[in-house]
Amino acid sequence: MSTSLDMPTRPQAQIRVARVAVPSPLPQLFDYRLPDDGAVVPGMRVRVPFGSSVRIGIVVDCADSASVENHRLKPIDAILDAQPVLPREALEFALWAGRYYHHPPGEVLATALPVLLRQGADAVPDQDEAFALTAAGGAVELTALARRAPRQAELLNRLRQAGGLLTADALRAIDGGRATARTLLDKGWLRLESRPAYGFVPTAEPAPPPELNPAQAAARDAVRATTGFGCHLLDGVTGSGKTEVYLELVADTVAAGRQALVLVPEIGLTPQLLQRFSRRFQVPMVAFHSGLTDRERLNAWLAARDGQAAIVIGTRSAIFTPLARPGLIVVDEEHDLSFKQQDGFRYNARDLAVARGSRLGIPVVLGSATPSLETLYNVERRGYSHLRLPQRAGGAQMPRTQILDIRGKPLYGGLSEALLARMREHLDQGGQVLAFLNRRGFAPALFCHACAWVGTCSRCDARLTLHQRERRLRCHHCGHERPPPPACPSCRSSELRALGQGTERLEQELQARFPDHGLVRIDRDSTRRKGAMEKLLASAHSGEGRILIGTQMLAKGHHLPDVTLVAIVDADQGLFGTDFRATERLAQQIVQVAGRAGRAERPGEVVIQTHHPDHPLLHTLLRDGYAALARELLDERRQLALPPYASLALLRAEATAAEAPLAFLEEARQQAAALALPGVELLGPIPAPMERRAGRYRAHLLLQAARRPSLQQLLERWVPKLGSLKSGRRVRWSLDVDPMEML
Ligand code: ADP
Ligand code: ZN
Ligand code: ZN
Repeated sequence: MSTSLDMPTRPQAQIRVARVAVPSPLPQLFDYRLPDDGAVVPGMRVRVPFGSSVRIGIVVDCADSASVENHRLKPIDAILDAQPVLPREALEFALWAGRYYHHPPGEVLATALPVLLRQGADAVPDQDEAFALTAAGGAVELTALARRAPRQAELLNRLRQAGGLLTADALRAIDGGRATARTLLDKGWLRLESRPAYGFVPTAEPAPPPELNPAQAAARDAVRATTGFGCHLLDGVTGSGKTEVYLELVADTVAAGRQALVLVPEIGLTPQLLQRFSRRFQVPMVAFHSGLTDRERLNAWLAARDGQAAIVIGTRSAIFTPLARPGLIVVDEEHDLSFKQQDGFRYNARDLAVARGSRLGIPVVLGSATPSLETLYNVERRGYSHLRLPQRAGGAQMPRTQILDIRGKPLYGGLSEALLARMREHLDQGGQVLAFLNRRGFAPALFCHACAWVGTCSRCDARLTLHQRERRLRCHHCGHERPPPPACPSCRSSELRALGQGTERLEQELQARFPDHGLVRIDRDSTRRKGAMEKLLASAHSGEGRILIGTQMLAKGHHLPDVTLVAIVDADQGLFGTDFRATERLAQQIVQVAGRAGRAERPGEVVIQTHHPDHPLLHTLLRDGYAALARELLDERRQLALPPYASLALLRAEATAAEAPLAFLEEARQQAAALALPGVELLGPIPAPMERRAGRYRAHLLLQAARRPSLQQLLERWVPKLGSLKSGRRVRWSLDVDPMEML
């Protein structure tokens, strides 16, 4: 029985209150009154009135008194769960992450839940028909049956091997399986049951693992020797067999009855990788990838939470997956930017993996051929172990790298004669050639030779990219597009020229030069249609494509054994970037692309075209390698007091009114300064590097601290007050703790 709201006579102590994280941009939890007969525990979903709407929130805490007067306390509409959907550990971890990033708990928990649970669906997996062996079916003598009815014998045999149960899905994969199963049902040898359909990744024909080489074995043993939490950097050149080490460690984990969580970059979750796992493990495994429906995502999530899946693979958001028996976390390509969420709840899954491993008391392995400066720093300062795989596994050699000075040389679609000649040689010898250019479209600008007019976006401070085949000018920042003008809009001249190179132009040039060789272009444009990526990759793998052209989509993770020449068409883009991480990124990109060359028996070659052949970065990288360059870059960061030697937070604001963002940030700065907390420098506000984007003006206020705790202290006191600034109503603002890009 619940009493009516306007009867504040009820004794305070008897009122039970739930603290609920409600999805909203507000930073606090909200108190609701529990029905007298309703029990909740943290992690359950409740439906609650919120303003004029009704929302689904998560109970975070229960209490006997509220933060508002009892008679103003609104009652919970409904309790949606009998059991918490989020187990305690996953709930507390997500809340901790929300506090670290100073993001509203309601939105944080919404990120941690599959979409269907957010919308109120029951937390139960789909059900699937399954065929179970009966006692009679188990007793059938197979040899005799095989002579009369080979299919029936075969199916019974499969069932026995599969532990007496096959799902309808598994049956569909067997030729004539369903019909045979019907027959066996009629004979009483099988029984129909219903089973949760978790959507496990199908297992594949097992392949025997290679014997680890000494470096791999040493790395594996070092992780094995960890008890409790320990963070390990697996620093191995491309093709050194890092994945084999992960597989061994995952095998240990599974054998110990625990679950392994494997995080991969967005582009890293390829069918190839899944196949490697499914050939090694005959255990239930789920993969969170963008191709899942909401239903499938929920099924997989439940399998992880309830301990049904032994292995969980996914991209960044998988870090929040609840696990019943966690035993290991692996982050592959830990330097990859895609681990950082760049909008809304801006978390870094790599950093959260370390935090979660530490809370759980389990080992964390961060793998990369080009470790981030942050992680290298943590090896020094926070005692991560540094496990090195210096050589390629299986006998492949590291590629030879060479700088091509293109100053003053004629270029054909961005390609020098020397490079074209190298390409021809490799193609003639049966090698595959990969041309890397991290710019899609035909040309990054359309330019008038008569008056110097340049096509710019009306909504951004940016040039429009020409996409020639589709005859469009497109803004890569806001999506605005229009047809290219027939003549210069400024002077009417018809001498409009495409300036600079994109992958589309490269493709055109190479097609004209090497008409007899199959060509594959992989970038965001060519892979937009569903299934296009798989098709293009298949043709790259089969060798049908002899010349591969691509952006970073092609640069990462793919194992292309026949590629013998990698051409970095334009290294100059990254050499003088404005972001302080630009050089680190460029070095990582060069090493990663170069790593596609000569992954099998054929030795590889890498050619880097540049107008700055004497640039120290290129020299250190080529002469002494990535590790040496990373040391130099770290030294530079230390001198400039930049991350990882400092902690940053970036307050961004944007608005259609030009002066509003700076006005807000200035007020915000004064508010922070008034808190008078030591150790944090407030830099700015200043306009963002690209001040106008998608019709909005943007500005930044940067907070910099030598010590992370000083920064956190300030943010804790300051962020809750930001919402009260009047000037904040005229802007959209967001806070980015540990920003990775200063855009
Ligand atoms: P990485 O993850 O470091 O890029 P992979 O694990 O993909 O490297 O290994 C590169 C190639 O070498 C793969 O084809 C893999 O099967 C093979 N390989 C890895 N370890 C060994 C080993 N110990 N012996 C033989 N081949 C190996
Ligand atoms: Zn003109
Ligand atoms: Zn634009």
